Amino acid sequence: MLLRTLGSAAGGGFPQWNCACHNCIGVRAGTLPAKSRSQSQLAVSADGRSWYLLGASPDLRAQIEATPALHPHHGVRQSPIAGIVLASADLDHVLGLLFLRELQPLRVYATPSTQRILREDNTAFRMLNRVEPQVEWTDFLPGNSFPLSSVGGDESGLRIEAISLGEHYPAYVSPERSAALVAGEASLGLILTSHGKAAGYFPAVPRMDDELLAKLDTLDLLFFDGTFWSDDELIRVQGAGQTSLQMGHTPVSSAGGSLDRLAALRKPRKIFVHINNTNPMLDESSVEHRQVHDAGWEIAEDGWQFEL
Ligand SMILES: [Zn+2]
Repeated sequence: MLLRTLGSAAGGGFPQWNCACHNCIGVRAGTLPAKSRSQSQLAVSADGRSWYLLGASPDLRAQIEATPALHPHHGVRQSPIAGIVLASADLDHVLGLLFLRELQPLRVYATPSTQRILREDNTAFRMLNRVEPQVEWTDFLPGNSFPLSSVGGDESGLRIEAISLGEHYPAYVSPERSAALVAGEASLGLILTSHGKAAGYFPAVPRMDDELLAKLDTLDLLFFDGTFWSDDELIRVQGAGQTSLQMGHTPVSSAGGSLDRLAALRKPRKIFVHINNTNPMLDESSVEHRQVHDAGWEIAEDGWQFEL
């Protein structure tokens, strides 16, 4: 199994266009020892020929162009991208679908609830179904394992299992609509398996229980929610706002944070993704950066490759 981090930042990217926090100022000026990052996006393949995207970030066009394995290799209109798996309806996770509207056959896997939001309530996504064949929407439910295949039926050699994590739908979904959806389909972690190896993508984890921890310890490679260092990070930077936990993200630090709770994991290589531009661990000279590395974690950058 091959995996690539096409993007590693949280929504807004790093730097974020309207942000003048310590990190964003420093990375723009080149005075901070830190790397700019596009919005979180993973691509995975079992054979290096056909690829599946986990989500579709708003930076997807540039991320594809930065990745030669995802460029057309056969014919005038073609793509090695065979499909997309959606873990939520968050804009940072689905807007990129609109940049894949150039009539390419693609299979998009999504829960019934996410499909209702995108296909029934947001008419722009109808651009994905102008011709036949174009996007073939395919249902899946959390808890079930299923194989990934192309619109033409080619098996990828990859299987996915989705874990239900969060129950809150994005703010653009009306309360009436949210009430009519299945809460357990709102926000998922995705586990990919191929040839006996397993990798997990968990960019938004609102809480952890022993069952989830046991599941994570079966993985060979774990991409985990590195959005905020501390629960009150945004409030401290902006003077107001929501806490990390209110936004559905377990902070990295503090008792009950991910460094603490996941310290007992023995098996997986552990990598933080979906890192917000305010997170002090982005500064490679910071004590927070050192603390993460000393705890055995890595901090994802754009363009990293993995082979399992
Ligand atoms: Zn910033």
